[in-house]
Amino acid sequence: MKIICIGRNYADHAREMKSAVPTVPVFFIKPDTALVTGNRPFFLPDFSKEVHHEVEVVLRISREGSRIPEADAPGHFRKIGLGVDFTARDLQHEMKEKGLPWEIAKGFDHSAPVSRFFSLKRFGDIRNLSFRLDLNGATVQEGNTSGMIFSFEAIIAYISRFVTLRRGDLVFTGTPAGVGPVNKGDRLEGFLGGIRMFDFKVE
Ligand code: MG
Repeated sequence: MKIICIGRNYADHAREMKSAVPTVPVFFIKPDTALVTGNRPFFLPDFSKEVHHEVEVVLRISREGSRIPEADAPGHFRKIGLGVDFTARDLQHEMKEKGLPWEIAKGFDHSAPVSRFFSLKRFGDIRNLSFRLDLNGATVQEGNTSGMIFSFEAIIAYISRFVTLRRGDLVFTGTPAGVGPVNKGDRLEGFLGGIRMFDFKVE
């Protein structure tokens, strides 16, 4: 399986990163070794001094497809969850300045913890779904899928023009504003549509 992540899909986050609001989706891929499940702790890597949390709604692909028309995209995911796109922000800035790819900042081991996945039915209208991240009991990121620049369907259509999506692949759909650093001992709790989705520690 692979993990595909959309960058800058919420205008408030694009602004806080001083990035332009994109006119087509921007995506990158994390390897399967980035995945963490079961509320296992996130271990801070030794090569970064500034690892940021980015809480994101995650789609699980349920049916293989390439060049999926937007109208058919709802048939390709049946479950959603919540994850954190951990980012070594210092390395990302360095790579961006040099015009180089971001993999070391985004694709490192354990950089993609995800919650359990639930059927879409459980959440009602997924186009108007709130989510948030609490850091040590205080809310640091709050978003609603109604604020996405590119819809779930548009994302699936766009990615699959270039990359075949397979059953079990995960799609991180972008983070809202409020990204910031995590430190040893922090506790991260994620909520989606009022359901507590994950709860893990940073070590
Ligand atoms: Mg992200």
